[in-house]
Amino acid sequence: MLKKKISRSATIISCYVFLFLAILNPGNAFANKIKVITTSTDLRSITEFIGGGKVEVESITQGYANPHQVDPKPSFMVRLSKADVFIRIGLDLEPWALLLIDGARNPRIRFGEPGHIIASVGVDLQDQGLQAGTMIDRSLGDIHIYGNPHYWLDPLNGKIIAQNILEGLKMISPENAEYFNENKRLFDREIDTRLSRWQEKMKPYSGTNVVAYHKSWPNFSKRFGINVVDYVELKPGIVPSPAHIAALIKKINAEGIKVIIKEPCYENKIPNFISLKTGASVLTLPVSVEGVKEVKDYFDLFDYIIDNLISTFTKQGINPK
Ligand SMILES: [Zn+2]
Repeated sequence: MLKKKISRSATIISCYVFLFLAILNPGNAFANKIKVITTSTDLRSITEFIGGGKVEVESITQGYANPHQVDPKPSFMVRLSKADVFIRIGLDLEPWALLLIDGARNPRIRFGEPGHIIASVGVDLQDQGLQAGTMIDRSLGDIHIYGNPHYWLDPLNGKIIAQNILEGLKMISPENAEYFNENKRLFDREIDTRLSRWQEKMKPYSGTNVVAYHKSWPNFSKRFGINVVDYVELKPGIVPSPAHIAALIKKINAEGIKVIIKEPCYENKIPNFISLKTGASVLTLPVSVEGVKEVKDYFDLFDYIIDNLISTFTKQGINPK
C-alpha cells in the first residue's frame, strides 16, 4: 500500500517536473526535432535538404536583406538560447553573429562546440588578396577581408557547405547518421544533374561583360563564365562617389556593356541613373533563397538567376555564341 502511494507520488512529481521543463523550454520538451538556427536562408535551405524530417530550421536573416548589416536584436538571442545547432557562413560576413551567440548564453552553440557549424570550411574561396601581415582596417571600407564571403553562389560550394552541415548534424545526432548521409547523396546528385543543365544554358554567353552593384559574384562568374568588369560600389560596403559613377558611365559606354546586376538590398536610384546614361538594363537578381518570392530553395536560386540573366541578355541583343 505504502509502496503504491510512493510510486503514485513519484509519478505526480515527475509529471510536474516535465510540465515545469516544458514551460521553461517548450521546443525541446515536446518535439524531438533538432532545433537549428542559421544566419542565412541559403544555409537554412541546405540544412533542410540534409536534415529532412529530423530538423526544424530557422534563418536569422531574410533572403532580400543585406547579410553584412544585421541588427543583433534581443529576440534573436532568445531564439538562439533554445537552439541545438547554429550554422553560419563564416569569414567576415557575420560579425554581428558572435554578439548574438554571447547574448544567447547557450553553451551548446558556442564557437568550438559541435553545435557551432561554420559552412566555409574547405570551400573554393575567391578574392583572397589579403597577404600575411597586412593590416586589417575596416575603416578602409573593405568588408570582404578574408576572401569573398558570397561563396554559396557556386553550386559546387553548395555541396561542400552541405558536407560541413552533414558532419555537424551527425555529431549532434549520431543515431540519424545514415538518414543524413542518404539525404546528402540525393542533394549532391541533384546539384550534379542541375549543374550540367545550368552550365549548358550559360555556355553560349560565356565571356559576356556585365557590371554589378556589390561584389557578390566572383564564385558565380567563375562557375558560369560571365565577366563582372566593375561595380557600382566603390569598394564592397562603400557607396560610390560622383567621380566613380561618372567613370563607370564612361566605361559602360566605351565597352558596350548592356547589363547592370543589382542585389535586392541595394537602392535603385544610382543604377537607374547609370542606365539612363548608357542604355544598359538594370537586372535585380537575388543572391539568396527568398531574395525574390519565386526562389524558395537553393536550387531555385540558380534557376532564377540563370533564366533571368539569359532573358535580359536576349532583350539587350546579346546573341548566344
Ligand atoms: Zn559582400
